[in-house]
Amino acid sequence: MSYKIEIDFDKCDGDAACQDVCPQECYGDVVDGKITIVDDYECIGCEACVNSCPNDAIEIIEE
Ligand code: SF4
Ligand code: SF4
Repeated sequence: MSYKIEIDFDKCDGDAACQDVCPQECYGDVVDGKITIVDDYECIGCEACVNSCPNDAIEIIEE
């Protein structure tokens, strides 16, 4: 099972809450006010990031 991280960048305000909680370090720096994804191949689908996001901007998709 692998997972893909989808972010609605229109909703993202760059608070980096998702980066703080991700156990797999899938998220990178905030660039121009938006979070970046560095590695969604490491994602384990825990959805901690989804639950941390105040703007409901993240979706984890099973592939
Ligand atoms: S689902 Fe879990 S492992 Fe995947 S990006 Fe979110 S916090 Fe990280
Ligand atoms: S938690 Fe949501 S709003 Fe905050 S940086 Fe991550 S995707 Fe953007």
